[in-house]
Amino acid sequence: MAEFSIIDTYFNRQNKNSVDLGVGDDSALLTPPLQQQLVICADTLVAGRHFPLDTDPHAIGWKSVAVNLSDIAAMGATPHSILLALSLPQIDHDWLKAFSQGLYDCCDQFGVSLIGGDTTQSPHLTLSVTALGWVEIGKAVPRSGAKPGDLICVSGTVGDAAFALNHLGHPLQKRLDYPTPRCQLGTALKGLANSMIDVSDGLAQDLGHILKASQVGAILALEKLPISPALQALNDEQRWQYALAGGDDYELCFTISPQNYEKLLQKHLDVSISIIGTIQQQHGLTFEKDGVDHSLQFNGYQHFA
Ligand code: ADP
Ligand code: MG
Repeated sequence: MAEFSIIDTYFNRQNKNSVDLGVGDDSALLTPPLQQQLVICADTLVAGRHFPLDTDPHAIGWKSVAVNLSDIAAMGATPHSILLALSLPQIDHDWLKAFSQGLYDCCDQFGVSLIGGDTTQSPHLTLSVTALGWVEIGKAVPRSGAKPGDLICVSGTVGDAAFALNHLGHPLQKRLDYPTPRCQLGTALKGLANSMIDVSDGLAQDLGHILKASQVGAILALEKLPISPALQALNDEQRWQYALAGGDDYELCFTISPQNYEKLLQKHLDVSISIIGTIQQQHGLTFEKDGVDHSLQFNGYQHFA
């Protein structure tokens, strides 16, 4: 089967939103909504590196889209479409069918269209997705806007995906294989949050990016970290290790003034929010447990470690 037939069979479904020209020409065409900025990001998944070779292809398809929509959400933007660059070692129809179904399931859930891409052969299975979204001019939420006195918040629960990686077959594996990009929360925070990041490499490391970009520090309250029931049975240090250093959560971590937090509570949100600390002028990340200083040793995920 030639490249074109793969594209037509698996990657040429109807668009879900306004696309002037999608899959099939040299490039796709979109008309940007008035007064909006284009928000764009890319993420690559390499088989054997970002997921085990025998991972369910449906989950790979879902996740390759979800991690990109999470980056769009972390800017406060609304996702619109994706492009897919696919490098395959061989043509495996069962794999392609399940992969494309997973990819479209995630696209459909968040109203996103697949508008183009590239399909090549290579010795390693590699998937690169580029996501596009829109946000009103000047309204994107950067990493660099955290201010002393801001509340530090995180959505959902943290540590689930890392726990699942160490306990394959556990019900929490769903959190590892099918992360939910927090698209609705992301757009709700536009105009309210001062800074935001999605948690892909561990909460402490990702919050560290906000602190560095904003040139501020933070105090985190360990007892306030939102943790799934399955992790409650672990001892404190193990639990905090997962919650603070575990990757792949794809929750949103943001900082917000107390006044805007009250406004946020008046919106309908599809995920829970926890206040886990405060931003302070003094640089560095410090931890407290029940109001008392608590020193911790842990590592975030290092891509080139
Ligand atoms: P070109 O040779 O002009 O780069 P291609 O033959 O690579 O075009 O692709 C033909 C069309 O199919 C283009 O519209 C391209 O965006 C789309 N396409 C190719 N691979 C994929 C894919 N994996 N998913 C979605 N669209 C794809
Ligand atoms: Mg091409």
